[in-house]
Amino acid sequence: MKPQSALALFLCLSTAPSWAQTLPAIVNGELPGLVETYKGIHTHPELSHYEEHTSALLAGELRKAGYQVTDHIGKYPDGSQAYGVVAIMENGPGPRLLIRTDMDALPVIEETGVPYASQVKTKNAAGQDVGVMHACGHDIHITTMIGTAHALAALKKQWHGTVMLIGQPSEELVDGARAMLADHLYERFGTPDMVIGLHDTNTRAAGTVSVTSGPAMAGVTSVDVVLRGIGGHGARPQEGKDPIVMAAEFIVQLQTIVSRQENPRDPSVVTVGDIHGGTKRNIIPNEVKLELTTRTFTDPSMQIILDGIRRTAQGVALSAGVPADLAPTVTTLPNESAPPTYNDPALTAKVKSALVAALGKNNVFDEDPYMASEDFGIFGLEGHRIPTVLFWLGAIEPAKYAAAAAAGKLAPGMHTSRFQPDPELTLRTGVTSMTSVAISLLHK
Ligand SMILES: [Zn+2]
Ligand SMILES: [Zn+2]
Repeated sequence: MKPQSALALFLCLSTAPSWAQTLPAIVNGELPGLVETYKGIHTHPELSHYEEHTSALLAGELRKAGYQVTDHIGKYPDGSQAYGVVAIMENGPGPRLLIRTDMDALPVIEETGVPYASQVKTKNAAGQDVGVMHACGHDIHITTMIGTAHALAALKKQWHGTVMLIGQPSEELVDGARAMLADHLYERFGTPDMVIGLHDTNTRAAGTVSVTSGPAMAGVTSVDVVLRGIGGHGARPQEGKDPIVMAAEFIVQLQTIVSRQENPRDPSVVTVGDIHGGTKRNIIPNEVKLELTTRTFTDPSMQIILDGIRRTAQGVALSAGVPADLAPTVTTLPNESAPPTYNDPALTAKVKSALVAALGKNNVFDEDPYMASEDFGIFGLEGHRIPTVLFWLGAIEPAKYAAAAAAGKLAPGMHTSRFQPDPELTLRTGVTSMTSVAISLLHK
């Protein structure tokens, strides 16, 4: 810990409840082991749906911490097994608190240059070598959960109720939370009264946290579009219907959905992230496939976008003279879609005051909503039946954060090859924050 953050922690603890004075010593004791665990997980990342070793490590650590652990929880729609972990600690009557971590990594070749960088490679669907990296920091989340599990066990006299720790697979494909619920998570292990999670971020310095009240992250709907035409010789376009030209028109026109059809007061995004068509420069292909991601904060807003995508696809095909039997196909992918993340305002207020008590008010910020998406909100069930809060954990070494900020920039962000959390301070703050929030919500 940097001297100034040690001082800040001391100052804020002087007005904190008694258990808060023993927490730093517990975290200090845990920290060297946690940093080693983090580095081990970071070196050995596993992609979504393949979190076998990561989930086994988490399950083993939570068992050692005294929790009742069940692993291999979750069923994907194709019937395959998910690597979800559930760890329960019962501590008398009281509320049931779910704390969630995700566990999966991303297909990114790591370029941080840290000694514990990932060396893992895998093949993508096209058979090319791709790297695997914890580029979203889920390794920080897993390790924070292990530290929190130990701290809550050590401070068992300070809280009552039941802690339900969840290791969720496949957050990056936003199908892991749903897979666990589909495997009767709540029927088997009890329905929580509250759901809490955290996510690291490059937009804040390590040692700080931030939280949004109300809509916090956008909902996502993944959409596949196939524009079908009639292929032929590249020199004789009059004999075919060129789907490449249609795709070009389609992509440009899509952007008018957000700018002309949505209410400007409803933030939304339509992005074409992937496009495939053609085999050779002088051949007009039969079709072009596009993969889209769309983001909004409300269901009506999402409906405007989906209707707009369908109309735009049909419109470009119609104007190109594509016959009706080759009309475009537009398919939404429910298993790669997720609702908005909604931070229950009443629970957010409690979480925030626990964070302020633990870290000092200068280290706790209010955050604007993000257009990025999560499947965390699924644990709150439809209609936000269970209150949920996801807060942000600053992850960038303070000096690096300040240097980037002085240049008007941010350090490299999540999903990039250079995203590099500061392990020690981020884990210290993560465990301190999550433990303090959990004890505050379950305090006797
Ligand atoms: Zn991510
Ligand atoms: Zn993430």
